[in-house]
Amino acid sequence: MVERQLRNRGIQDPLVLEAMLAVPRHLFVAEALQNRAYGDCPLPIGERQTISQPYMVGYMTEALSLRGGEKVLEVGTGSGYQAAVLGRIAGKVYSVERIPELARQARRVLDRLGTTNINVKVTDGTFGWEEQAPFDGIMVTAGAPHIPEQLKQQLAPGGRLVVPVGDRLEQKVMRIVRRGVNEFSEEILLGCRFVPLIGQNGWKD
Ligand code: SAM
Repeated sequence: MVERQLRNRGIQDPLVLEAMLAVPRHLFVAEALQNRAYGDCPLPIGERQTISQPYMVGYMTEALSLRGGEKVLEVGTGSGYQAAVLGRIAGKVYSVERIPELARQARRVLDRLGTTNINVKVTDGTFGWEEQAPFDGIMVTAGAPHIPEQLKQQLAPGGRLVVPVGDRLEQKVMRIVRRGVNEFSEEILLGCRFVPLIGQNGWKD
């Protein structure tokens, strides 16, 4: 998976490649799907949600430009796989999920792996995690209708927000960097298809 799907397609950051080599992706899907866990596609995880394609996980993690030790927020815990990858690189990961059963299941796997630097909370992540802000990196793993303003405001100076933005079916991965108190740069990186970000500042359920 790492050689063919990541390195061969241009993912170069050694921290990302090492993290994705280390995290056992098959533990984050149902037993019946474990033989497909390292395939080049997203997979269902229940509740009409998905674990993202490995390439997308690698691409978005690389886009956060982590060097190690940072404080990171993930919106959309899902299976917990992306949080585990972030947890191999960052100092602390805060991950929020709106569906309690997915958060419970993710917590179980993360505990089984012995992770100690990943916090999972059930909440509407379109508000971020105010009490833990600011973050050096924020990753949204569901498609937003617009760049969530609350998340921008929770970035530390120099912090990066990586978020898919578009309509309910297709989005573009965008990277927003906090350059100053009220100064942000925006880049469009890559086309993608995520399940919708549902919440007060996202799509309606
Ligand atoms: N990162 C996940 C993983 O590694 O398995 C995949 C995430 S899945 C593509 C998108 C997740 O975002 C779903 O679990 C969905 O319930 C969650 N989600 C959607 N809207 C949300 C919101 N407002 N707050 C928190 N989670 C949300």
